Amino acid sequence: MTARIIDGNALSARIRELLATSAQGMKVSHGVTPCLAVILVGEDPASQVYVRNKVAACEKAGFRSIKQVYPLDVELVTVLAKIAELNADPSVHGILVQLPLPKHFDAEAVLEAIAPEKDVDGFHAENVGALMQGNPRFIPCTPHGIMKMLEAEKVPLKGAEAVIVGRSNIVGKPMAMLLLAQSCTVTVCHSQSKELAFHTKCADILVAAVGRAKMITGAMIKPGATVIDVGINRQADGKLCGDVDFESAKEVAGLITPVPGGVGPMTITMLLANTLEAAERTLK
Ligand code: NDP
Repeated sequence: MTARIIDGNALSARIRELLATSAQGMKVSHGVTPCLAVILVGEDPASQVYVRNKVAACEKAGFRSIKQVYPLDVELVTVLAKIAELNADPSVHGILVQLPLPKHFDAEAVLEAIAPEKDVDGFHAENVGALMQGNPRFIPCTPHGIMKMLEAEKVPLKGAEAVIVGRSNIVGKPMAMLLLAQSCTVTVCHSQSKELAFHTKCADILVAAVGRAKMITGAMIKPGATVIDVGINRQADGKLCGDVDFESAKEVAGLITPVPGGVGPMTITMLLANTLEAAERTLK
């Protein structure tokens, strides 16, 4: 059996077209352009690429974007002052600080400084709490994109065994909440989990969000399972790969996302969706 591939680029393109149309409509009807502000601290090459891609995606969809880059040694107060300025600017609808922040930075203080109604990444404690309560304001972009993929592929969720490998605040935990809200039976594995393969083999839906190249092999997958690979790992030859060993996994899974071209583009698409939503809410 060879799995059907979930094309994140194609689904993203379709959704981004709709978002661009909505943004254009908002401009015409209200004279408002959705605007995302992105703050980057330091020169991490991967973060620079992510920020560049986010800004480019905004431009292509007709959104406005503001990019603020600080050197590694910038003072925390400077970044907090910028966030306060953006919070107070009614023409800015979404604010995100690219993670990870440098180690000496108090990431929590930065994330909590963003106004919850502009927190389009959904990382503010107030928004995390709303998601936990089943009443999300902004759904974190990566898990949000994964839910859209599952929906587009009509993957049955009610009663399905969902196993998530990874428990980070930005992927694993919100993913668990979203799948739980759709009545999956959710298991979350992490670095201290024993018998990882025992759990992954039970999964009708397997989400890998670890950051370890090709660690999930075909032998760890239930035949016919839906496999979502969040991982982005740079190999020795410079090419990207996921946390799933695609070659062996695709022989066992029913549906699988590739890396690149799977979850990655959907993450940026949902960032645009959240920004548009934030802008729409200001019109009500
Ligand atoms: P984190 O490093 O924050 O979390 C990794 C998780 O994996 C932790 O919960 C850790 O467990 C767990 N883990 C580590 N080793 C093992 C192991 N051997 N077995 C089981 N679990 C393990 O990563 P993120 O969640 O931020 O990101 C995960 C991956 O997804 C990365 O490759 C990242 O680049 C990628 N990513 C991709 C995105 C996209 O748009 N495609 C968006 C965001 C992330 P513990 O908690 O015990 O340490």
